[in-house]
Amino acid sequence: MQPIVACPACKRKIPYSTSNPARPFCSMRCKSLDLGAWASEAYKISGSPLEAPGSDHPGEDTRPTDRAIRVPRD
Ligand SMILES: [Zn+2]
Repeated sequence: MQPIVACPACKRKIPYSTSNPARPFCSMRCKSLDLGAWASEAYKISGSPLEAPGSDHPGEDTRPTDRAIRVPRD
């Protein structure tokens, strides 16, 4: 009994077979498509590593602002 996995590229449900050279993709075509997408994404990320907004932690935004206000007083 083979486990069923979803192809990461086209989401098609396929049996995870060791005889499939493109696993976990359904076909070599989907595998090459996904690798191409990852390559282009990697280019974007490496091109601008410092442009990621810190919106994941909105609470931390108050600390640097508070510190910036106090520094000129001293
Ligand atoms: Zn596929």
